Amino acid sequence: VSHDIRTPLTSIIGYLGLIEEGQYSSEEDLKRYIHIAYTKSLQMKVLVDDLFEYTKVRQTSTPLTVQTVKLDRLLEQIAAEFELESSRKEMAIEVEMKTKELQIEFDVDKMARVFNNLISNALKYGKDGNLIRIEADKVGSEAVVSVINNGKMIPKESLDELFNRFYRVEASRSQQTGGTGLGLAIAQSIVSLHGGYIYAESNDKETKFVMHLPLKQTNC
Ligand code: ATP
Ligand code: MG
Repeated sequence: VSHDIRTPLTSIIGYLGLIEEGQYSSEEDLKRYIHIAYTKSLQMKVLVDDLFEYTKVRQTSTPLTVQTVKLDRLLEQIAAEFELESSRKEMAIEVEMKTKELQIEFDVDKMARVFNNLISNALKYGKDGNLIRIEADKVGSEAVVSVINNGKMIPKESLDELFNRFYRVEASRSQQTGGTGLGLAIAQSIVSLHGGYIYAESNDKETKFVMHLPLKQTNC
């Protein structure tokens, strides 16, 4: 954590210091320094917000605001929100309900955050593929929801590590995409607050994040 916070902060202080001391030779340089300091501040804000969220959802006492949700509607709506971004990346995004009219109880805001992270991951790290598919099925008293993309395979030894905070498969590549490595750690905590679990599978054809979620919440 300290490294991830210190690095952008050092660079912000460095560039603001140059501005403060008038150490720039042109207006262009000045603008560039301001731009870097601003960009790094925004990055830090994302990190601090995510860290706060992570700490919050890690606490098993965190309350859930449970609602009954029509899963097909919610998934269609979330997929629609990614339509523009995915078409820009020439990736198709589709929802397949294997069980129709599936109703589930969960905290919509928190679970939307989970789906958003899984889909944006598929868009960020599955760029060499062209398809993102969200599947949902009812199995016994659970909903099984998967987010699948046909991009590059995640190495076996990384599959379990993915859910650890700050873990990224390729540090340098992921850094460019601005990820903090907290998305899946937050997702796992949110799913487990609901009494469910999440895991990843990957082969050379597809990468799949599977969630098992109880249809009913008994503790709320
Ligand atoms: P953040 O979500 O906090 O912005 P992030 O996307 O790097 O940052 P996670 O969502 O936790 O963090 O993902 C962890 C790592 O898992 C990613 O950096 C990436 O290396 C790998 N990963 C996640 N989803 C996929 C995917 N669909 N295909 C390939 N690799 C993935
Ligand atoms: Mg992510």
